[in-house]
Amino acid sequence: MTKPLIYKADLGIYCEAGDFYIDPHRPVARAVVTHGHADHARAGHGAVLATRETLDIMKIRYGENFAGATQAIKGAIRVGDVNVSLRPAGHVLGSAQVVIEKGGRRDVISGDYSRVANPACAPFEPVPCDLFVTEATFALPVFRHPDPVNEINRFLASVRRFPERPHIIGAYALGKAQRVIMLLRQAGYDAPIYIHGALQALCDYHIAQGIPLGDLRPATMDKAQARELREAVLIAPPSAFGAAWVQRFADPVISFASGWMQIRAHARRRGVELPLVISDHVDWPDVTRTIEEIDPEEFWITHGREEALMRWAALTQRRAQPLHLMGYEEEPE
Ligand SMILES: [Zn+2]
Ligand SMILES: [Zn+2]
Repeated sequence: MTKPLIYKADLGIYCEAGDFYIDPHRPVARAVVTHGHADHARAGHGAVLATRETLDIMKIRYGENFAGATQAIKGAIRVGDVNVSLRPAGHVLGSAQVVIEKGGRRDVISGDYSRVANPACAPFEPVPCDLFVTEATFALPVFRHPDPVNEINRFLASVRRFPERPHIIGAYALGKAQRVIMLLRQAGYDAPIYIHGALQALCDYHIAQGIPLGDLRPATMDKAQARELREAVLIAPPSAFGAAWVQRFADPVISFASGWMQIRAHARRRGVELPLVISDHVDWPDVTRTIEEIDPEEFWITHGREEALMRWAALTQRRAQPLHLMGYEEEPE
């Protein structure tokens, strides 16, 4: 077996032959970024290589000069002594797996990924490889995410049952908010959806990329208007909960869309009345199925929970190694 093209360095996964990091935690000379979530995409690198969409998203979040230079990767490009290409990860708009090749060897770093259909991005593509690096956010047998369509139907049942109460869904600004909006639209909900100001720019960007979100309106009304909002569905980032913003609404139903909502204690702690288990990550059946399908010589586990996957690897006689990478949030999903 040939030597991996990457190794774990202080700032994250490093490819020496190409002299670049993948999703590094601190500014580096050259970074390949898998997707726009804040714990993977940071400002201040000398050069960032990513999909066109991820570069656009970083610009929206961090401003025009978020990096010294940028390069959109399409097809395969040469970086130092390796070839680098990006393949869909099915996680959020622009998300990609990083495929590194040299002399017949291929290593794949999947970033965050999902196997559940998401109209905002191309589906995850299994790439045969020698080394597969997987996330482990929900890599415990207890995590089995339900069909998101059922979750949204439960939500809409509550909207019908409590027409006099505004329904506010907590959802992260990149990916989850748009996913929830699309699920509502696909379920036939065509009334205006009111969005918190923090979601506006990324919703606009999705629409500009041809992803239809329907009639979105700013949820920036004053207290008097907010009290009058009946039968409204609102979406806000989790940071808006517990803040003055949410207190302007009369008797709201507080909902939250996250894979963590499968854990009742999480929902309780956040004061969530209507938890929605909607995730953009692989659950246990999907992470193990993906590794079986790709069947790499070896797989490494980045952020999340590695114990159960290590045990599974031993039972199925696969070579595996935990990387214990720090700095990737567990919560923002
Ligand atoms: Zn992510
Ligand atoms: Zn992550």
